[in-house]
Amino acid sequence: LARERAVFDAHADSLQRALDLDHDLGERGAGQLDLWRGQAAGLGALVFVAWVDPKYVEAEMHGASARAKALLGAFQTLAERRPDRLRAVRAAQDLALARDARVVAGIPGIEGGHAIEESLERLEEFFELGVRVLTLVWNNHLSWIRSCQDGAGAGVPAGLSEFGRRVVQRMNERGMVVDLSHAGKRSFLDALDASSKPVIASHSGCATLHGHPRNLDEEQLRALAKNGGVVGIAFCTAFLDEGARAAERTLRQQPAYQAIGGKNDTERSLLQGEFMQRELPGLTAERVVDHIAHAVYTAGIDHVGLGSDYDGIERVPLGLEDANYALIAELMERRGFYEAEIRKVLGENLQRVFTQALPH
Ligand SMILES: [Zn+2]
Repeated sequence: LARERAVFDAHADSLQRALDLDHDLGERGAGQLDLWRGQAAGLGALVFVAWVDPKYVEAEMHGASARAKALLGAFQTLAERRPDRLRAVRAAQDLALARDARVVAGIPGIEGGHAIEESLERLEEFFELGVRVLTLVWNNHLSWIRSCQDGAGAGVPAGLSEFGRRVVQRMNERGMVVDLSHAGKRSFLDALDASSKPVIASHSGCATLHGHPRNLDEEQLRALAKNGGVVGIAFCTAFLDEGARAAERTLRQQPAYQAIGGKNDTERSLLQGEFMQRELPGLTAERVVDHIAHAVYTAGIDHVGLGSDYDGIERVPLGLEDANYALIAELMERRGFYEAEIRKVLGENLQRVFTQALPH
């Protein structure tokens, strides 16, 4: 797998480290993922997301879109500086060209529809800047789509609004992949109904195994399969396992955790994550394969992939620390998955969706 660069990861937050901490993602460094470690582990394609903290919405006029642009600028800089490791994907053909050149196909995305500031023109502007994935909503509710979290106030629709349907349709027309992780259930089903192309839920797990609001239930998994889409199983310990989530909740109450600071939010999160990874008993990577196996059981082998959420999560399961995707392949093989099935989950399924949805 490493030789063939067969792995496709639908979600990583590493751009924040590049922008806020000046980390060089072209070299082996801090955090959970960089191009060096990715390439060593067989990474062939990665969605680099610009996660827009909702605090930027209130900070200033156009604060959210400005933050997204700054993160996308960090991606652009990386792609220009390291053509030996990364190729920016603007069209479907770039996926194959990156593979031929033996570099990572980097797909710029935005996590959080608040970045488009309720404007289709802004969406177009991001498309022109190279954005090819939009996670319609993050944990904050919007005027046009409800998140999976509680606490939606008045003015938040039950699912996807009429404007939200237009966002999905415009994305389909232009060749942007619709990402439904973080969406409320009704929003999720509405978006599938509105989309003429296969979609992704880039970083989620199975609610049947752990009833976390970020995980997908049986109806969602089946609806996603019907659409031709793919769920990227996340390496987030809190989504994977109730016990792990409870232990993390307890740890966050400890003074030693709360005393952790940093020069900005990104550094603080990084240090908190390192503390958590060190202090808590590790979660076995078998738990990731539990979620993969369940999603395969419900949605089918053609509708499951990986979406690590590296550099967006505090800790990762044991053995997955250095983007060691090969461990997933190994554990799947031990569970009796065939090689062709492992290939689909590690990369081919997402490759198919992106090839169908991106511009040609
Ligand atoms: Zn997320």
